Amino acid sequence: MQKKVAVVTGGAGFLGSHLCDHLIKENLKVICLDNLITGRIENIEHLFGNESFQFIKLDVTNFIHVPSHVDYVLHFASPASPIDYLKLPIQTLKVGSLGTHKVLGLAKEKKAVFLLASTSEVYGDPLIHPQKEDYWGNVNPVGPRGVYDEAKRFAEAMTMAYHRYHGLQTRIVRIFNTYGQRMRLDDGRALPTFISQALKGENVTVFGDGSQTRSFCFVDDLIEGIYRLLVSDHVEPVNIGNPEEISLLQFANEVIEICNSKSKIIFQELPEDDPKVRQPDITLAKEILNWEPRVSRREGLKLTLQYFKNELKIN
Ligand code: NAD
Repeated sequence: MQKKVAVVTGGAGFLGSHLCDHLIKENLKVICLDNLITGRIENIEHLFGNESFQFIKLDVTNFIHVPSHVDYVLHFASPASPIDYLKLPIQTLKVGSLGTHKVLGLAKEKKAVFLLASTSEVYGDPLIHPQKEDYWGNVNPVGPRGVYDEAKRFAEAMTMAYHRYHGLQTRIVRIFNTYGQRMRLDDGRALPTFISQALKGENVTVFGDGSQTRSFCFVDDLIEGIYRLLVSDHVEPVNIGNPEEISLLQFANEVIEICNSKSKIIFQELPEDDPKVRQPDITLAKEILNWEPRVSRREGLKLTLQYFKNELKIN
């Protein structure tokens, strides 16, 4: 029987590369489209030579042509960490808007199921806690983070328009902070920054007073949730994340302890529009996908630590 084919945009990135691995394990053929603007070829190098994998270097904001039949299109291309999207504001807006339009066009042409990687950032600095899918969010469109948040909000609206107007089968996953192997150490997010500072014995820098909260999901849990959503028939957005919430100050202490480090914590100015709280309500994912995270934060951190040590060449 012919294998099903999935196109993954942003497949050379952190999450996209894990997704490619997972889809191949599920016996699909994967075509990865990426312009490597924030991704790395090392993330997918192990798949070169695998006949179920093909890499095409291209910018998805341009015309996309894929010759074979396609069953699924998963749109993960976008700068995703604050450092990246603040440095690449126009590319971020373009890939969320023009890119989403082009990738939806590919799914429509191929009569494929389309899945959008959206984000908890659509909730902005939330006034409702924890965040449920029916919350519309509190986003500053003209602040520096607006380039990412609004691009994703537009992408969700475009996805729903293709569903309603063209009858395309669509899925929207709202991803909450995720960590694991293949994260870039210098992507500016709290988790890789804390870990690399702690491993190098440098001061651990906490923004503000560290009372702002985050909820970190281990990458394997996230990918399993996304796969279940892809093969479901649920059209409305679904939160996938780990509801285990922690303040950034507590988290910095936890990282120092797990790394067995002597680093001290220092405080720095809070970036503009930094969300004060972040925790997914995953009732819907539990109900419709029978999904919930299995890996605790401490377990996931230990699994990730070895990868960070290898990257930093620390034994
Ligand atoms: P990443 O930067 O590692 O991966 C994004 C990939 O997209 C990169 O490989 C990059 O080169 C590629 N890309 C960007 N613009 C492109 C373009 N115009 N054409 C082709 N390729 C392009 O980031 P990630 O953390 O893996 O995030 C993947 C997706 O998941 C993003 O859409 C992001 O918004 C979403 N997301 C991630 C998180 C998280 O915690 N990592 C949380 C919420 C949402």
